[in-house]
Amino acid sequence: MDSGDTRSYVVHTYGCQMNEHDSERIAGLLEADGYVRAESQDDADVVVLNTCCIRENADNKLYGNLGHLRPWKDAKQGRQIVVSGCLAQKDRDLVAKKAKHVDVVMGTHNVHRAAELLHEAANSNGPLTEILEAAVIDDHALFPSALPARRETSYNAWVTIQIGCDNNCAFCIVPAVRGVEISRPYAEILNEVEQLASEGVTEVTLLGQNVNSYGRDLQLAARQAGDADAKLRPLFSDLIRDVGAVEGIRRVRYTSPHPKDMRSETFSAMAETEAVCEHLHYPLQSGSDRVLALMHRGYTAKRYLEKLAQARMVVPDLAVSTDIIVGFPGETDDDFERTLEVAAAAEYDYAYMFIFSPRPGTEAAEMQADFVDPAVASERFQRLRIVIERSALLKHEARVGHIEEVLIEGPSKKNPAVISGRTRQNKLLHFTPPYPLRRGSYATVEVTRAAPHHLEGRFVEMLAEPTHKLRIPVNAL
Ligand code: SF4
Repeated sequence: MDSGDTRSYVVHTYGCQMNEHDSERIAGLLEADGYVRAESQDDADVVVLNTCCIRENADNKLYGNLGHLRPWKDAKQGRQIVVSGCLAQKDRDLVAKKAKHVDVVMGTHNVHRAAELLHEAANSNGPLTEILEAAVIDDHALFPSALPARRETSYNAWVTIQIGCDNNCAFCIVPAVRGVEISRPYAEILNEVEQLASEGVTEVTLLGQNVNSYGRDLQLAARQAGDADAKLRPLFSDLIRDVGAVEGIRRVRYTSPHPKDMRSETFSAMAETEAVCEHLHYPLQSGSDRVLALMHRGYTAKRYLEKLAQARMVVPDLAVSTDIIVGFPGETDDDFERTLEVAAAAEYDYAYMFIFSPRPGTEAAEMQADFVDPAVASERFQRLRIVIERSALLKHEARVGHIEEVLIEGPSKKNPAVISGRTRQNKLLHFTPPYPLRRGSYATVEVTRAAPHHLEGRFVEMLAEPTHKLRIPVNAL
C-alpha cells in the first residue's frame, strides 16, 4: 500500500435505510481516518459493499459483484475490498471462503471498526473476518449513530434511535442479523439532533426496526438497577415531542412503527408537535388474521383498522402508507380477499407491495410445502396494485387546490427544468420554479394535478433558504 498518498473509497449500499445510514457511518469513519470519497470505483482504493440479505438472491448478487471486483483489485496495488452489513453478519466465513480477494468481512455491529480493520487487513495475509454477535452497549461510542457520519444530503438526516428487533416475524431476517432491540440513550439522541440542527439540518427521520417500542429496554434496565421511580410508559411519544421542539428542526419523521405497539400517546404527540409530519408508515403485511398469525405479527385486521381510524381522528390531514406481502406461504384466495378488503378500507396514500420470496434463515423459508404458485401470487399482486393505485389517486386528487409546504430535493430526474420536493405528507411534488432553488429550501406550492405516484404544482412563494454548509462530515455525539 502506498503510504503518504491520500487514499480514496466508494461505498455501495444495498437494502434498507438502516443500511444506508450505516454506510454514512462507514464513510464518515473512513474520512475521519484521512480517506477521501472517490468520484468512481475506478479512482478508488477501497470499495465497501454494504450488503443486505432482505432482498431476493442477495447472496448471488454479492458474489457476482465480488467477481467483477477481482480485475479491479488486481489492476492496482493496495486496493482493498470490504464486505459489511447483514449478509456479512449472516454468511461471515462463507464470504471470505468464496471470494478470497476480499480483505475485510465485518458484521452489522462492527461498523465502528471499519478504518482499523482496513489497516489490520493491510498487514495480514488473507481476508480478515470480524463479526460481533451483539452490539456493545456499555460503550455508547459503539452505537451506530454515535459515530462520525458522511451524510448524503446536508439538509435532512437519519437518526438511529434503536437497533435490533425483539419481534420474530416469520418472513424477516432482521432479528437474526441485527440482534435484540437496544435503545439509544434519550439524551444522546437529542444531542445529535441539536448538533444536526446547528449545522443546518431541518428534517430528521428517527430510525429503528420498531420505533414505537423505543425505550422499553432502557426503562426495564433502570428498574432492574433499583430505580423504583422508572416508569414503564411509552417513551417514543416524549421523544418525538422533544425532537420536534429542537430549534431549527422543521420536520420530524419516523420509520418504522409496528402496529401492535402503536399507542395513542404517539398519535397525540404527532398532533401536538408542529414539526412532526402528517405521515404514518403503518405496515399491514396481510389483511387475513390467519396469515397475520402465521407471520407472528401480533395484531388482527380489525385491531389494525381500529388503530388506524384512531390515528386519523387524532392527527388531522394524516397520510398513510404501508407494506404488504402477497403470497405468503399458505395464503389462500380467501386470505387474499381479506387483504384486498383491508387495503381498500385503509385507503392508503401509497404502499410498498412485495410478492413473498423466501429469505434463507427465516421461518417462512422453511414453509416450502405451502409456497404459493408464482403465477397465482403475481395475479394477486396485480389486483392489489389496482386497489392501492385507486386509493392513492383519490388521495392525490384530494390535494389539488391545496397549498403545500415543499422541501426541495433538486431537479426532477426526468426533466432538469422541473424541481422535485416532498410535502409534509411525504408526497413527491414537481413544479417549475421561477428562479433556481437550492436543495434544502422550503417553498409553498399549489397542487394543480394529481397522478397515482406524484403531484404537480405551481410555485407560490419561498419560505426558507437552506442554511447548511454543503457536504461536511458530521461528528455526532
Ligand atoms: S418487526 Fe418484524 S418485520 Fe420488523 S424488523 Fe422486527 S421481525 Fe422484522
